[in-house]
Amino acid sequence: MGFKNVCLSCKRVESLGTDPSQFRTGHCPQCSAQMFFVNHKFRPPKATDEKSWAVAAYLISHGFSYYTIRDEQGLAVAYPTTLADAEKFVAKYAAQRSQQIARRKHDLEKQIADLRQRTQNDSRDRLICDLNEQLLRLTQSATVP
Ligand SMILES: [Zn+2]
Repeated sequence: MGFKNVCLSCKRVESLGTDPSQFRTGHCPQCSAQMFFVNHKFRPPKATDEKSWAVAAYLISHGFSYYTIRDEQGLAVAYPTTLADAEKFVAKYAAQRSQQIARRKHDLEKQIADLRQRTQNDSRDRLICDLNEQLLRLTQSATVP
């Protein structure tokens, strides 16, 4: 599994790979907007495909960062490709999203705990700081209705 950072204003995607020590969030180097951490399953549309980017931006800003969503039978649900479908999708899967947020928080806490076991150095400290920031943002987004 690899993860990505996305800047929704520049439509810029950064691959983060799979090594947690390489994960970071932070701000877009081009426009300094906050970047979003998304699942490896996110397939960025072409920069000129405004419609698809609008759908992606809507989903990501509502907390649906392309992790797997499952229906009642446990089957993976395809992510919507139109804004109208995206609105229905967000309404329908909001509860699952909260669970995913809880899981993601747990993962972040585990990553932070693991890092604290490592030898102290500047890059480790920066990473812990980044992860704590992500954790804080998750906590804030979880309280948004
Ligand atoms: Zn940007």
